[in-house]
Amino acid sequence: MTALAAPLLPSLGTGTMRATVFHAPGDIRVDEVPRPHAGPGEAVIRITTTTICGTDLHILKGDVPTVTDGRILGHEGVGIVEEIGPGVTRVKKGDKVLISCITSCGTCPFCKKGMYSHCEDGGWILGHLIDGTQAEYVRIPHADTSLYALPASADEAAMAMLSDIFPTGFECGVLNGQVKPGDTVAIVGAGPIGLAALLTAQFYSPSEIVMIDPDENRLKVAQSLGATRTVKAVGEEAVRAVMALTHGAGVDVAIEAVGVPATFDVCQGIVGPGGRIANIGVHGKSVELHLEKLWSHNITLTTRLVDTVTTPMLLKLALSGRLQPLKLVTHRFHLEEAMKAYDTFGSAARERALKVVLEG
Ligand code: ZN
Ligand code: ZN
Repeated sequence: MTALAAPLLPSLGTGTMRATVFHAPGDIRVDEVPRPHAGPGEAVIRITTTTICGTDLHILKGDVPTVTDGRILGHEGVGIVEEIGPGVTRVKKGDKVLISCITSCGTCPFCKKGMYSHCEDGGWILGHLIDGTQAEYVRIPHADTSLYALPASADEAAMAMLSDIFPTGFECGVLNGQVKPGDTVAIVGAGPIGLAALLTAQFYSPSEIVMIDPDENRLKVAQSLGATRTVKAVGEEAVRAVMALTHGAGVDVAIEAVGVPATFDVCQGIVGPGGRIANIGVHGKSVELHLEKLWSHNITLTTRLVDTVTTPMLLKLALSGRLQPLKLVTHRFHLEEAMKAYDTFGSAARERALKVVLEG
């Protein structure tokens, strides 16, 4: 009888939890806040692993004004279903789940096209327009279509890399760049997203993958993950190096994984005739488009907000060990130490940080 009674003891509808809360640019804190509860179609997940994204640093700087005072940050994570609301059928209490960074209703015109990023009642809302995953508990709307059930044995830190960075690197970089067998691929930016593009580009057997970054340590990591060449340079110097490596031909695919004008310029400088520029970076400033050069070069330029439509495929590869997301995890902290984790991730070069994981 006690066994039956015990799970009912924590009273639903009350209680508080610890969470990383945005207050103002430059001001985030670990606060005590009310625990969320599940309404119709929703689930509450007890977070066991979450992580900090480059986007969170942009929010902290004040680059994302739609994030307002009191918002719990975080859009990546893995946890255990704690509570489900009416109508949820595909997950149940106690299931281990992956939380997608993109919330999708599954039924609106955009979702039906597979463009979950533009879902009329979702998209990127977690840790942005609704409270996010850097907390003990998170409420997930449209739980049936925004969560992925995981085997109980799945490595949580590895799986958390599939909330955002792997689908982003793959969909926005590799798929949009149409990487094909034998292609020469260049990836500008060897941060977590660039490295996720590096790992997933190898599904298609390109002949060369050139990684471009000013950070020596990141290039070493890239080499260990399959980059065939590395270029430790920026700007014109990087363009010259890639053009020399390709004997003046340029690359078939140039993947932009930073999000500033200078790295976009490198992509424009190295893309060869018939090539593709696949932009992944989040751009806050306009760039100069060199149509005076590119108009006659049969170039394709793509942009995309990750849709996470490839998450089921990436999950299969990660669970089988063919894809090894854990290689990007460099630091682990307890959820309570979120401020320390933000400091570490914010000084990524000095700390040699790639993905920084927070554990509950
Ligand atoms: Zn992210
Ligand atoms: Zn939708």
